This record gives sequence, structure tokens and C-alpha cells, in this order.
Amino acid sequence: MTAIERDVVIIGAGPSGLTAANELAKAGLTVAVLEARDRVGGRTWTDHFDGHMIEIGGQWVSPDQDALLDTLAELGLETYSRYREGENVYIDKHGEKRLFTGDIFPVKPETEAELIRLIDELDVIVAEIDAEKPWAHPRATEYDSITFKHWLEEATSDQEARDNISLYIGAAMITKPDHAFSFLQALLMAASAGSFTHLVDADFILDKRVVGGMQGVSIALAARLGDDVHLNQPVRTLRWSADGVVAITASGLEVHAKRAILAVPPVLFSRISYEPPLPRHQHQLHQHLSMGFVIKVHAVYETPFWREAGLSGTAFSPYELSHEAYDNTNHDDPFGTLVGFVSDRNADGVFELSAEERKERILESLSHYYGEQAKNPVFYYESDWGSEEWTRGAYAASFDMGGLSRYGADQRTPVGPISFSCSDFAGAGYQHVDGAIRVGRETAAAIAAELKG
Ligand code: FAD
Repeated sequence: MTAIERDVVIIGAGPSGLTAANELAKAGLTVAVLEARDRVGGRTWTDHFDGHMIEIGGQWVSPDQDALLDTLAELGLETYSRYREGENVYIDKHGEKRLFTGDIFPVKPETEAELIRLIDELDVIVAEIDAEKPWAHPRATEYDSITFKHWLEEATSDQEARDNISLYIGAAMITKPDHAFSFLQALLMAASAGSFTHLVDADFILDKRVVGGMQGVSIALAARLGDDVHLNQPVRTLRWSADGVVAITASGLEVHAKRAILAVPPVLFSRISYEPPLPRHQHQLHQHLSMGFVIKVHAVYETPFWREAGLSGTAFSPYELSHEAYDNTNHDDPFGTLVGFVSDRNADGVFELSAEERKERILESLSHYYGEQAKNPVFYYESDWGSEEWTRGAYAASFDMGGLSRYGADQRTPVGPISFSCSDFAGAGYQHVDGAIRVGRETAAAIAAELKG
């Protein structure tokens, strides 16, 4: 058994934990970061297969994500724009494919009018929501007691308009069916991106990527910490008292510290034994958070063939297995890559198939957008975060019905010497790398202020 002493122990070497650790080190405090996996980056993970670079987890940056943009600049990491020239594809509920430009899907004029009206209406309500404290809105409890599906049903009788608005928040963001999360949760998701209009605008939300991959952020942050990042060290026990903490890993490494930052997805909090147990309120709160579920599918081709057909690669349909897909060709790469997403119940469904059948079904769906050539990638990969012990879903955790208004205000309240830091507790940048960095900075600043007096 090895024991070390630090000012702060950080559990989890994702972007949030590594940001917090760097900020604390800058403030002159000593840190140790304990990471369960054999790599840093958490839900950001760049790997190479058959010579193809695949971003298995988080990758896109939007222009409002200034915490992430500042970090990229500070670390000297460059970005590049997602390819978006040409026409986008939409497939309607009858399976009819239509090309379009702009943000509004090419639906019949009455549905288009409904879409615009609903987006405007949502923008007005979202503008009233403070993403940092959605529970403080005067109607928070009411909004948190109705499902997003129910709100949509009350708002319009146009099924195709409902299906499309639901897609932006449900399948594409929270990755839960729209009957499984509240209207307040939907408003938080939009408020965290600045407006509902921003969510609808793929060119805004999925603007840029990081040259070399988003995991580069965590790799560079970890490099600055050197030997203070300990890989393959899942924390199993956290002893705590008013005097400090002892974090004990599976292999027996002990870190004695004044403070601990739990920088892991909240669904994993209960994997750690707390001595003494966490208070009743946290026991309850943590049970009301669960991971969404989405498969990110990567299909690599000899060339980005869709570009020759005048297509941007951007494709949507609430009626397709892959409800959205994009040109995901890497920087300076002659191969063309498409990325598609299969969300919530569709993801459950395809995981009941054999790997071959699943691949066939998903590529069939991509071929509806891009033509037969989409069925023959030179390389194919499914990101399956549901099977990752140290994540257990994708993209992130959100509250169940009523949970956000009931518990949200306390999700980051420290318990004695233990603080909580994760993108899933962010306001701006909620469920994104930007949010992970913001919360990491704020958590570190609060601890540094206390410890440095
Ligand atoms: P994590 O990244 O989950 O890091 C937590 C770390 O804690 C992990 O390394 C884990 O191994 C470790 N850990 C867990 N338990 C223990 C333990 N007991 N002991 C020690 N270590 C432990 N965001 C974007 O901004 N843009 C995107 O395009 C985007 N797309 C995404 C696509 C996918 C498929 C996924 C999965 C996520 C995506 N995200 C995206 C979300 C983004 O990746 C996350 O918001 C971000 O990584 C969260 O950072 P974090 O540090 O809060 O948590």
C-alpha cells in the first residue's frame, strides 16, 4: 500500500477533473488525480483503427463555448470547421427524401409554419430560464412535472412538427425518449446553448472540431500535471471528516488530502463506498439522475462521395434509425467519414441484433440519406458507451421527472470536504466539454479560496 499526501485529491481524469486539478496547481496547491481507466479524457476519446482516426466520444465545439475555446487557445490546440457546403437531406414520415438548405426542414407549409411558431415560443420561454439555476424559475415545479412530450402535444396538433421539435432535444441531445424527461429539463438543455434557435442550427451547435481530436484537451491538461495523474486507479473508498479525506483505490493507493473533488459522471457516485455514508439528501438526489443512451456510428469511405453529389453530409429524420448524420471527415484526411447517431429506444432495439445485422440496419439507414454507396464503408465503428464500466451511457446524465426542480439546487453543494464537478452539473455548456471545464474551474476556485484563505 502506498500513501501520499496532497492538498486536494481529484477523482476522475476527464476534462472537468483535469481542469480543476490544473487550476488548483496554478493556485499553488498540491494535487493528485486518480483515474479508473488506463487513459485520460473520460467521455472524450480519440483512437486509431486501421489507420483511421475515430473520435469515439465528444468532439464538436460551438462558438458560444468560450471556456472550451479559451482552453484550446491556452493549450495551443487548433480547430477546423465541419464540412457543410451543399444541400442537407431530410426524410419525412413517408420515407420521402428532400434536399434543403438553412435550418428549417423541408416540410409542408403548414408544418413549417408550426415549426417556426414553436421555435419562437420556445425561445421566449428559454430566455426566461437561467441555465445556472433553472429550478429558480417561478414555474419550475410546474414545468418539471410535465413531460416534454406532453408540452408538445398541448402546443400543436401537427405530428410532424412535434416529431421534429422533439428530435432536437430528445434523440439529439438528452438521448432519452421525450416522455422520459420534463419540459424544465428540455428548457435547461436549450438555455445551456443560449436559445432553442441555437439547438436547431447545426452550423452553430456542431461548428468546429479539434485538430487531432477532443481528447487532446485532456491529454495536454494531464501532461501539465505529470506524475500527479495516476491511471488504472479506480477509487473504491472515500473516508471523510471535517479534517479531510482519504481516497483509497482498488490497488491500495491512498491519497490523504484536505479536500476531494468527485469529477465522475453522477451515475457512478454510488460505485464508491463513503465512510461515513453521504447524507440522506445526496443518497436521494443521486438516484434521480440517469444516463441517456446513444450509439455514435462512424463509417469511413475511400472519398467523401456525397460531396460530389452536392450534399453537405448533414441529414435528419425523426423517422430514420439514424436520426441525424454528418460529414465527419478528419482534418487533412483523404478518406471521407460519415457519423450517424442511433438514440434511446432505437439503440436498445439494435443492440438486440447480432453485430452484423446491426451494422447492416444502420448502414441501410445511412443509405437512405446518401445513396447505396453508404452501404460499403472501408471501415465501420460503433461507439458503445453503454458498455463502458466507467461511463455507462451517452452523452450524459439528466434528472428524471421532477428531479431537476426538487434536487438541482443541491447537485453541486459540497458535502463536508467533498465537492462535485462534472459537465452533467453545468449550466452553460450543460452535458458538454465546455460545461465540464466551467464547473471544473468554479469548483477549483471555491476550494482555492477556502484553502488559501
Ligand atoms: P467524464 O468525461 O465522464 O470523465 C470522468 C472520468 O472519471 C472518466 O475518465 C472516468 O473513467 C473516471 N472515473 C469514473 N469513476 C471513477 C472512479 N471511481 N475512480 C476514478 N476515476 C473514475 N461534448 C461536447 O462538447 N461536444 C460533443 O460533440 C460531444 N459529443 C459526445 C459524444 C459522445 C458519444 C459522448 C459519450 C459524449 C459527448 N459529449 C460531447 C459530452 C462530453 O464528452 C462530456 O460532457 C465530457 O467528457 C464530460 O467531462 P467530465 O470530466 O465531466 O466527465
